Amino acid sequence: MIPFSPPHISQEAIDEVVDTLKSGWITTGPKTKLFEQKITEYCGNKKTICLNSATAGLELILRWFGVKEGDEVIIPAYTYCATANVIVHCGATPVMVDINSDDFNISIEKIQKAITSKTKVIIPVDIAGLPADYDEINKLVKKDKVKSLFVSNSDNQKQLGRVLVLSDAAHSFGAEYKGKKTGRLTDVSVFSFHAVKNLTTAEGGAIALNFEVFDNEQIYKNLNTMSLHGQNKDALAKTKIGNWRYDVNDAGYKANMTDINASIGLISLKYYETKDLPRRKEIMTKYQNAFSKYTWAELPIIENENRKSSYHLYTLRIKNVKEKQRDEIIKKIFEKDVSVNVHFQPLPMLSVYKNRGYKIDDFPVAYDNYSREISLPVFYNLSDEQVETVINTVINSVK
Ligand SMILES: *Cc1c(COP(=O)(O)O)cnc(C)c1O
Repeated sequence: MIPFSPPHISQEAIDEVVDTLKSGWITTGPKTKLFEQKITEYCGNKKTICLNSATAGLELILRWFGVKEGDEVIIPAYTYCATANVIVHCGATPVMVDINSDDFNISIEKIQKAITSKTKVIIPVDIAGLPADYDEINKLVKKDKVKSLFVSNSDNQKQLGRVLVLSDAAHSFGAEYKGKKTGRLTDVSVFSFHAVKNLTTAEGGAIALNFEVFDNEQIYKNLNTMSLHGQNKDALAKTKIGNWRYDVNDAGYKANMTDINASIGLISLKYYETKDLPRRKEIMTKYQNAFSKYTWAELPIIENENRKSSYHLYTLRIKNVKEKQRDEIIKKIFEKDVSVNVHFQPLPMLSVYKNRGYKIDDFPVAYDNYSREISLPVFYNLSDEQVETVINTVINSVK
């Protein structure tokens, strides 16, 4: 069986984990802090905090900004449930909008129509690793007409004075937009290092801060505290002589990254640009070349003038098929021992959001993209021979 996306764990990463286990410091400590610095260096943003997931990162930012009941947060209908769930956790309303038909990202035109005086945040999602159109989104939230609609209900909302752009960059670590890496494309971005993502720490995530009007160091300190019960000193700080006393100002969360996880991330990041990204690109280029010969194949955008993907998901679409026929093709591919996937079932198709009144009929592009989509295996150790097997299996199954 060719798997879909097993993680890339080198012997060096295993050795680094063992080193951490033997060091006497296994929770948040020096390796997490070093990993944060390395991410900041790599992405070119202003400050980074590592956490136990991207989900925690998205929620912490919404809470930091004061998002609560009565507020609206604009998201694409086409994303993983985490993007919407965190809004529900805060008591606010996810406002879903449709996506583009050429890539799978949120439609700027649809965002514009969805903004109201209740809108507090927009969460674009870089689906498959291709960055959303951040210049357009950033321009939109700074327009006088849009700014005049904005109602501030917290100090941070007052200071920003407009809708916050929070990038769900769970797929797009290492991707580029107009020559800049994700993490520095907008106010704040959140990465995922979950096991199936390009760069993994088993479970993990990070918030890349890149604010212009706030002190990013100050926000880092605040988020660090809020990710650890609101305790004003972390375990490492408390080990310093006479430093045992601490206080708790807010009922915080528990979302810190451990040094065991950071060890995996440190080694993965070391080879990410020279090994992982080039290999992923190579695999996707083979897929593009092979399927471009077939009129039934609609190829994903992997790179164009302004954007370079992180090559996270290869989202092939089959032209002129219905959802059931696509499902039949997937069944045939699995019968030949090749694992594929579908990214994503649009949120209105999931019971939790269907039951909240969202209707898939309101998102025709999301449904069309979903109903014809098949994600093919892409991972570092996928051999050229296996790539050939995947290609032939897909072609035969479509036929
Ligand atoms: C994986 C994923 C997340 C959640 O990441 P975790 O680290 O598992 O919390 C959020 N958004 C999208 C689009 C994802 O694919």
